[in-house]
Amino acid sequence: MVQCYDVIIVGGGHGGAHTAIALRQHGFTGSIAIVGDEAELPYERPPLSKEYFSGEKVRERLFIRPEAFWQDKNITLITSERVVSIDAEAHSITTAAGRSFGYGRLVWAAGGAPRRLPLDKGNAANVLAIRTLADADRLREAAAAVRRVAIIGGGYIGLEAAAVLTKAGKQVTLLEMQDRVLARAAGEALSRFVEQAHRTHGVDLRVGIAIEALEGDALVTGVRLAGGEVIPCDLLIVGIGIVPEVAPLEAAGATVGNGVLVDERCATSLADIYAIGDLAAHANSFADGATVRLESVQNAVDMAMTVARTIAGEAVTYAALPWFWSNQYDLKIQTIGLSSGHDAYIVRGDPAAGSFSILYTRDGKVIALDCVNMARDFIQGRGLITSGVLVAPDVLADPAVPLKTLVPQ
Ligand code: FAD
Repeated sequence: MVQCYDVIIVGGGHGGAHTAIALRQHGFTGSIAIVGDEAELPYERPPLSKEYFSGEKVRERLFIRPEAFWQDKNITLITSERVVSIDAEAHSITTAAGRSFGYGRLVWAAGGAPRRLPLDKGNAANVLAIRTLADADRLREAAAAVRRVAIIGGGYIGLEAAAVLTKAGKQVTLLEMQDRVLARAAGEALSRFVEQAHRTHGVDLRVGIAIEALEGDALVTGVRLAGGEVIPCDLLIVGIGIVPEVAPLEAAGATVGNGVLVDERCATSLADIYAIGDLAAHANSFADGATVRLESVQNAVDMAMTVARTIAGEAVTYAALPWFWSNQYDLKIQTIGLSSGHDAYIVRGDPAAGSFSILYTRDGKVIALDCVNMARDFIQGRGLITSGVLVAPDVLADPAVPLKTLVPQ
């Protein structure tokens, strides 16, 4: 007989775990199962390229909740099972091991798989990505035994890995194809500041490069750039984004594009199927209504909350203000809002002093802030974004004026 659950959550990452937690918090008493393809209890991913990678945080501190929590809350964890198909009509899923489960509602929270290098030897044993705890363990072991590390991709994960490895005394070369790091995530002023910080710490950071080939036999020994220069390496880390894990949803008939399309309740186009987190393409009011996919803990957790409350019978919509953080060296970078679509920016404070904020504006209104060692602006900037108040640029630029005093009460 097929085992049935009132709610099945596919993926035991940030979104999946928090959906189950929030369902119980909001009084849902039906049966819940999380079906995930990893072996571990749900854990936090951000430390994998930061404190866990550096060894400052131990494994036990990564778990979102202790094992007893899931038992106490009567949430069934089905681990090491990959869901390969959905029968949307019959309300059932099937795993790679051939097990089928029936559901009342399905929450698809499967995140994304690291994008692979489309190059020969891109799958060599010393070419690694950082997405899972198993990836981070492999990487820690590999990094301990080598001296020269090349990193392809100047997004947050590649930059965080560069910081950890440089601090550990490795010789790090970071290669970015665009003309600046963080091109997708931040404005140019932050990119240039971060590039400088890495170079000051000894990273050979190059932007605007084209990669021709990976050199070596069984293992990659170097990255050949257009023009012929070869960057020698004993280990290659690839951080060039993710591919949303949506194939079973697509095969079941859900509307997909860049991820799976969801509405303001995180519902897909299929009855009783929701999708959340990194793979959920949604119209975001902080992106001027544009359809976006956000890869952040905040987005996964807030979407989880929206779906859980919807299933628990509340009328809620997803309207959370996006935020994000990254730690590199002694820099704590915090972002609030979405800067895409800005038409001007203001630097507040002195980047040379290592503590400043960048305020992005559109039509004179602040739409996002990148704050570097400036937690106060990160907290107080929220009100500037949500109120849509117009403030003169020279006032915004003055660090002596607390941002909260500029927000109408
Ligand atoms: P995930 O947390 O990825 O969970 C998806 C789960 O589903 C995974 O366990 C996956 O193995 C599983 N799965 C996939 N397919 C299937 C299937 N078919 N069947 C069953 N299970 C499946 N965000 C921040 O805000 N700040 C940070 O500093 C930050 N740092 C990061 C550092 C690293 C190294 C990484 C990888 C991510 C970081 N992020 C950070 C991003 C953040 O972790 C993600 O946005 C968040 O984990 C997304 O949650 P999710 O539930 O959508 O997906």
